[in-house]
Amino acid sequence: MYNDLIKFVQTLYRSEDFIPLHAPTFNEIDREYVLDAIDSTFVSSVGEYVNRFENDLATYTKAVHCVATVNGTTALQTGLRLVGVQFNEEVITQPLTFVATANAISHLGGVPVFVDVDKDTMGLDPGALESFLQENAVIKDDGAYNKKTGRRIAAVVPVHTFGHPCAIKEVVETARCWSIPVVEDGAEAVGSWSNDRHCGTFGDVGVFSFNGNKTITCGGGGAVVTSDEKLARHAKHLTTTAKIDHPWEYDHDEIGYNFRLSNLNAAMACAQMERLPGILKEKRKIAQAYEDFFASQEWCEFIKEPECTTSNYWLCTIALDDAKSRDDFLEKTNAAGVMTRPAWKLMSELSIYSNCQTGSLDNARWLRDRLVCLPSGVRAEK
Ligand SMILES: *Cc1c(COP(=O)(O)O)cnc(C)c1O
Repeated sequence: MYNDLIKFVQTLYRSEDFIPLHAPTFNEIDREYVLDAIDSTFVSSVGEYVNRFENDLATYTKAVHCVATVNGTTALQTGLRLVGVQFNEEVITQPLTFVATANAISHLGGVPVFVDVDKDTMGLDPGALESFLQENAVIKDDGAYNKKTGRRIAAVVPVHTFGHPCAIKEVVETARCWSIPVVEDGAEAVGSWSNDRHCGTFGDVGVFSFNGNKTITCGGGGAVVTSDEKLARHAKHLTTTAKIDHPWEYDHDEIGYNFRLSNLNAAMACAQMERLPGILKEKRKIAQAYEDFFASQEWCEFIKEPECTTSNYWLCTIALDDAKSRDDFLEKTNAAGVMTRPAWKLMSELSIYSNCQTGSLDNARWLRDRLVCLPSGVRAEK
């Protein structure tokens, strides 16, 4: 039954060798910029490519301000701190995500709380968020508090899962009603739009990742975006050890981080930003080919971009009938050299987060049992 798919993927990628889930591609532009960064001797956290990358990403997303960081996890940690998350405060996020989302909350001493996702978008469900808050929260002078734990609910972190935009407008509206800031985890969503607005620009802060397996990469990298100039200035300050500007004095006015992206990585990031439109076009071709193929397959459903959105289709995903078929599928495709992966274990099921409060997680469990990600990388230029 899966042989047709295996053959289809091999034809799509013009290869009978191992086909990875999402390998990066590089060309002469990447090479030229990286070599130029080396020749300039500015390879560390100061340099023209870092500033240029920040400008390019802010312009592309229309986010207004952008601060580059060493990876997506530190971008999230910075974003959460910017909106005021403090030790022992709660942050609501979804259980169906990569572990970095929950880890960034924990790195600040925050406590993750898991609320269900939408079946269609695979991202945080605004209805589930509202019900959770109705049942558990009360608004006080300095924000929303969890009645059961007594802790402040300091932020909401929706994720644009696999690059598909979540119902972000509704999530932000709900959070606003409860006076809770929103940090959008757009790590997987560079090049994804919801109603013609780029993901990551709806919340108070948005974050992106440029890890090696993401839509575009700079080896390792991340970014914080915001339309709030004060937050942007604070982001830059926090990620550069919170040093007060002075010709020679070392004075620091808060406990900052060494999170600034290096110029060497930023050089590759600039090249990849230039190539982004072409990469997105190619990824949509791949997604369309899968959609056409699966239209005639009864044993699974291809997950399409939600209505009124344009997804980057970071990872093309299908839903199988149940966990047993999923495991069988993973077995057969991986044995044939076609790399496929299940969705993540739910955060609430990891030993490290098993004590965290959750809402009802029916949709997340449903998706966790059925989702499989398919090879979705850009094909090498031939
Ligand atoms: C990749 C990813 C991150 C973390 O980004 P890194 O650059 O790997 O630190 C965070 N959240 C989600 C949803 C991701 O997929």
